[in-house]
Amino acid sequence: MSLPSLGSLQMSEPALVENFHRETVRERTFAQPIVLWDETLRDGEQTPGVHFSPEEKLRIAELLSDVGIPLLNAGIPVVSEEEARAVRLLAEAGLRAKVLAAARTVPGDVEAVIRSGATHIAIFVAASNVHLRYKLKMSQEEVLNASLAAVGQAKAAGLHVAFVTEDTVRAPLDFVERLYRAVQEAGADRLVISDTVGIMTPLTFRWFLREFRRRVRPKDWSVHCHNDFGLAVANTLTALEEGVNSPHVCVNGLGERAGNTSLEELVMALESLYGVPTGIQTNRLFELSRLVEEVSGVPLAANKALVGYNSFSHEAGIHTHGILANTLTYEPLQPESLGRSRQMILGKHTGKAAVVEKLKERHATATDPLLAELLKRIKERSEQRGKVEVDKFLLTYRSLYEHPGISDAEFWQMVRGLGIATEGT
Ligand code: MN
Repeated sequence: MSLPSLGSLQMSEPALVENFHRETVRERTFAQPIVLWDETLRDGEQTPGVHFSPEEKLRIAELLSDVGIPLLNAGIPVVSEEEARAVRLLAEAGLRAKVLAAARTVPGDVEAVIRSGATHIAIFVAASNVHLRYKLKMSQEEVLNASLAAVGQAKAAGLHVAFVTEDTVRAPLDFVERLYRAVQEAGADRLVISDTVGIMTPLTFRWFLREFRRRVRPKDWSVHCHNDFGLAVANTLTALEEGVNSPHVCVNGLGERAGNTSLEELVMALESLYGVPTGIQTNRLFELSRLVEEVSGVPLAANKALVGYNSFSHEAGIHTHGILANTLTYEPLQPESLGRSRQMILGKHTGKAAVVEKLKERHATATDPLLAELLKRIKERSEQRGKVEVDKFLLTYRSLYEHPGISDAEFWQMVRGLGIATEGT
């Protein structure tokens, strides 16, 4: 099938983005360079049921680094011996990307990062009242003191220090101001704001970030957004519009619960909608997405933006007809720009144009009555098709995701193995 090609997806392509859109973007000042901070191997690995071996982390890290990701979080070395080995493996792999490891505000955690060979550390602690009272059982003073000690310890070891609070946006602003100003004065190189439970909207996040900038005057800042309401990418774009320079991203939007800001969605929005360069080889994003899908075992939603199975597929007659005339009718960008291709699906909604085009693959043509008959048979066949395969797939998928992790049977067997007394069956 030969289709008109648009070539590049850059802003120079006049048909891609309307002028008003470009003018709006031009009024904003975007940080350059944008330092994409990948969290696939840390928050992404915290996706329920997901586990990466050190070798798997290395495979993903190599591709992330190759496509142009400048900074990646390898994990939290104090979690386990295997996790420490993974961080060390990545730190010693000679990647172009800088390797970061994370630590709580606990001396042993920071020490584990120093020993791992990572050049960058993210020191994290919670900031909101609900986290302080119910989880950390620490006062604001204790959080402040522990943070300053951890930042000092990491700076003394020569690390690049990012200071992160969990749940920043629900914390008292006066405490956020005091804490971040103090750690910045103590040498923290980058300040990270988290929307840990994904409750920001572009409007409220813009307000928060302006307030943060006014009060703290960050030199270098990041945002960590969660997708509980499907707003992670939108909120991260808002942050970039406000001058944030180092957004957190995860391949395929992996991460706790509904996940984090999707790397591919953020990059493509910046490149093709905003015209802001990201330094990423976008034509390898699909390859990256597939690798992470395989290694994580978390299948992409069919309708996932850009990398989902359907994001460049067409079936409906009106759409297929339009695409065949000019892909701009129903596609905002070329699938090749992500390293993938377009699919024409024959089914219930197929129209004549798609059948004519399909016949061309074998240099065939058909008279109008034969075409009409062929079309009728395609529609009938797809309407009659049973759903056995689909049902089978869905059942497997549901059983995997409704019962992930260690099974109950395995758990109680471990308990019995240790001689812990239990009641009941
Ligand atoms: Mn997170």
